[in-house]
Formats: sequence, C-alpha cells, structure tokens
Amino acid sequence: MRYISTRGTAPALNFEDTMLTGLARDGGLYVPEEIPTLSADQIAAMSGQSYEDVAFTVMRPFIGDTFTDAEFRELIAAAYATFGHDARAPLVQLAPNHFLLELFHGPTLAFKDFAMQIIGQMFQKALGRKGERVTIVGATSGDTGSAAIEAFRGLDNVDVFILYPHGRVSEVQRRQMTTPTESNVHALAVYGDFDDCQARLKDMFNDFEFRDSVKLAGVNSINWGRVLAQVVYYFSAATSLGAPGREVSFTVPTGNFGDIFAGYIAKRMGLPIKDLVIATNQNDILDRCLKGQGYHKGTVHPSISPSMDIQVSSNFERALFDAYDRDGKAVAQLMNELSQGGFDVSQGAMQALQDTYKSGRASEEETSAMITQALKHTGELLCPHSAVGVKVADEQREEATPMITLATAHPAKFPDAVEAATGVRPDLPPRMADLFDRPERLTRVTNDLEALKAHINKALGA
Ligand SMILES: *Cc1c(COP(=O)(O)O)cnc(C)c1O
Repeated sequence: MRYISTRGTAPALNFEDTMLTGLARDGGLYVPEEIPTLSADQIAAMSGQSYEDVAFTVMRPFIGDTFTDAEFRELIAAAYATFGHDARAPLVQLAPNHFLLELFHGPTLAFKDFAMQIIGQMFQKALGRKGERVTIVGATSGDTGSAAIEAFRGLDNVDVFILYPHGRVSEVQRRQMTTPTESNVHALAVYGDFDDCQARLKDMFNDFEFRDSVKLAGVNSINWGRVLAQVVYYFSAATSLGAPGREVSFTVPTGNFGDIFAGYIAKRMGLPIKDLVIATNQNDILDRCLKGQGYHKGTVHPSISPSMDIQVSSNFERALFDAYDRDGKAVAQLMNELSQGGFDVSQGAMQALQDTYKSGRASEEETSAMITQALKHTGELLCPHSAVGVKVADEQREEATPMITLATAHPAKFPDAVEAATGVRPDLPPRMADLFDRPERLTRVTNDLEALKAHINKALGA
C-alpha cells in the first residue's frame, strides 16, 4: 500500500512514513493510492464483534508491513483499553430510525481519542524500533490538542507542542491541555483564532530547515493515520444496524472534514452508506460550497460549538482531489487560489461532490433549541456539536433508511452551552472529577512563525 500526495509532486510513501510525516513536502495531504475493499462476507462478520476486532479488519489492509498482525492487534488493544465504555462506540436510539453514535467515551471525552490513542501507540512502536525522537506540533480548536496530549504524555520518543487559540477553547478543553505534568507536554496559547494556529503549523511544515532540524511530525487530521482510525466506527455502527444487508446514512458534525472523509472511505471500502451528510454550525463555508457557491474564506464567527469554528477545512482537499479525478496539479492550483481568498469548483467536480455528500447548517439558536428539545424528548444531553448534527439529520433523514448521527463530544466538555439550553449542568465522569483542582501550565505566544519556532527550539534545548 502506497500513499500519494493530493498535490501530485511529493514522493509516494509507505504507511509508516506517511504516518510519521504528516503533511507532504509539496504542501499536500497523503491519500492511499488505491482504496482496498472488503467483501460483503467480511463486513457481515463484523456484526457482534468487539470494536477491536472490527478495527483490525478495517485498518489492516492500509498498514502494509509496518506492523505484524500480532503487533497491530496489541496496539489496538492498548489504544482502546483507555475508554470508559466496553462498546467503545455505543449506539443510542433517539427516534424511530434515528440513532446517536456516542464517540465521547475516550479519555478526553471527544471523538478525537479514537484516532489519537491508536496514533500514540503506533508512533511509540515505530519510533522505538528506529531509535528516533520526533517533535509533534499540533493546532487545535480544543479537542485535538487535549486528545494528542493525553495520547503522547510521558512517551519516550516524542515532545508534543499544542497551539490553541487563546481564550477560544472551553475551560475543560484548556485544562485537559494545561494540567498534565509530564515534561514532554507543552501547551501554547496563541493570540489568534484556530485558522491562525493551523496556518502557523503549515508554515512550520513548509519551513524545511526547521522541519528537519526538530524532526517535525504532525497529528492533525492532515495525518492519514487519524482519518484511517475513524473509518472503523462507521463499520461498527452500520453493521450493528444490519449492514451490509441494509443501507444506512450518517450525519457528521464537520469542521476540518476529517471525520466525514473517514465515512467516505468506509463507503469506498464497500460499506453500504446511502447519504453522508455534512453538518456545519454558523461557520458554514462547507455547506455553502456544497450548494454551489464556491469556497471563499470569510472570518470565523465564534460559536457554542467551537470545535467546528473554521474557514479553512484542511481535509476538504482530500475530497477535492477525488472530485477532480485525482489531478494533483488542479488541486495545487485551487489551494493557491485559496491562499488568495478562495476558489470556485468546476462543474464536473461539483457534481462529483454533490453525488457524494449532502449538507446542512444549524444557527446558534437552532443548536441551542435542539439541545433543549433532545433532553425533553429523549432524555439525552447533547453537546452543542452533536446538537448541530442531530438538527441537520432531522431535516435530511428519510423514513426508509436508518440515520446515524455522530455525537462527537461529551456534554460535560461544553457545560456552559448545555446549561444555558437546559438548566442542567452536565457532570464530568468520575474518572476526571478533579480536573478543576489541578494546577495549569501554559505559555502565551504571539501569532508569529518566528516566535513559535524560537519557543519550540528553546523548550527542546536546541
Ligand atoms: C474536531 C471536532 C469536530 C469536527 O471534526 P472534523 O473531523 O474536524 O470535521 C466536531 N465536533 C467535535 C466535538 C470535535 O472535537
């Protein structure tokens, strides 16, 4: 299995190097050269299996000879042992034929743990046997950073630096990043928004001298390993509702497009998915693009679902690559236009995108109203991101096909919005009840590449 860049010129890599590299050297994102498929029998066999067994079957064809079967099973077992629910990704019913896939039972209470926990295991194994040390730098709107820190804290072969927008993450998110005491963990509060953090991260990757000197590695959803790990729960959920004998649809609260792109990969692998619905908050650039209005950057409007407050959706590049028949030159051209403000999608590519994805948006009021309504009608406390999903799913679902909405975070991660909508303040699970008592450790940094590089070099003692 080889991986190629969406911009067409970086060298093709195997799974291990793709995972350790993150962003391709031509600025593109790595995607598999071919998508392996699973047979209907292989998919049918997943029904009733453990999450770990499904994970092995789904991910194995992508990893080549990076790990032996026995090693890979061990890494998977260790990754998901940290979860607070035996099913790992349980399904809950909301209404006739509408289901909620709870992806928030991992150590930091958001779906990012599904990918980050296994990435942590894979990095440790691969780096350990090479005797190498890397510097992981990540940008976060809150959840990726906490999940990455949780996955890499205390590991021998990595330092982890997380850039988050100062003042724009929830208190639980911030504390999850600033309270770990391990010396290889560094939380950097950047004066800027999430798009600034992500742009500075890309700048670091494109600064080859810095990139090579600190052995920069990335764990944002630009990392193929992240997307891959998220493909698994589409299979586990769909097969528990009757796939491959029955089609299902998914609605996915979307920001950086990693999660929904994983659903697209599941479909390409042979899972019978009818609709893949993108749900955005008021930062609805993806919804507008899917409705034919081009992709033009505006400003980010902070919302009660901050993990989706985004204008530059990095993984959308992977979707464009396929929509443009894998023409790396065309994608490079679009991304160049994006750096000047935006681009229009060609007619053929637009058709391909609309054939693959549906979309909808939820305003702030609609999100709040959905949190209120869900508690009243189902007893479920939804986090604001999940509420965006449920609202859009309600508009798009059809009676004949089960709809599965991804619940991307635990309500206790966003207690203020949930309390405002319901009057109920959600409690943190007992295993993290002391979060508010632990001392915090963070560094404030200006939104400037040189300042960030200087800080990282200093912290590394370089
Ligand atoms: C990251 C995140 C999202 C968006 O996921 P993408 O893969 O970036 O589209 C949605 N909800 C929550 C809670 C998140 O942490």
